[in-house]
Amino acid sequence: ARIKGVEFVKSSGRAKDCPKDDRPEFAILGRSNVGKSSLINALVHKKEIALTSKKPGKTQLINHFLVNKSWYLVDLPGYGFAKAPEAAKMDWCSFTKEYFLNRDTLVAVLLLIDASVPPQKIDLDCANWLGRNNIPITFVFTKCDKMKVAKGKRPDENIRDFQEIIRQNYKIHPPWIMTSSVSGMGRDELLLHMSQLRNY
Ligand code: GDP
Repeated sequence: ARIKGVEFVKSSGRAKDCPKDDRPEFAILGRSNVGKSSLINALVHKKEIALTSKKPGKTQLINHFLVNKSWYLVDLPGYGFAKAPEAAKMDWCSFTKEYFLNRDTLVAVLLLIDASVPPQKIDLDCANWLGRNNIPITFVFTKCDKMKVAKGKRPDENIRDFQEIIRQNYKIHPPWIMTSSVSGMGRDELLLHMSQLRNY
């Protein structure tokens, strides 16, 4: 699972503007500040990639990156901006719903979950929505290198709590991977996982 080349292809404002292509793709989704740009950088070892999608104006777009000329990584707008009013927080849905429901080449959504904080309602809601719509998910837990914070729990405890809620409340059992963009943990596993899903 080696990454030889990554090229930015396109930013799209609507699902129907996405590249017309048969090649498989993985969408990366998560709360703002979850570590999405860091993970994308760690995956592809290339700074410019996520930076492109972080440029003002590009964060609310669907950004397609072609990897090894054979599959796409798709950077989706983050959700749950701390400063956004309550009503706007779940708005990611109306923007990306159309993409999720109509993108035939979507292999799976990499749903990023911050392992350094307790389970967040908005992440659970997101997993639930994807699950109910039969969209394959892989939970990618980020920041697993973080040590226990004052009064907080360790990443593995937060992950266990999150999985427990998912198991008890929703009928989905997605695969999951622990990662850290700081230590590189989980990088090879995630790349291998994606290559296995592509060839399935
Ligand atoms: P994004 O908004 O989801 O793209 O998040 P960023 O990649 O910009 O990261 C948000 C913050 O979390 C930054 O301060 C990063 O340095 C930090 N961060 C991201 N990934 C990790 C990680 O794996 N471990 C630790 N300890 N911090 C991380």
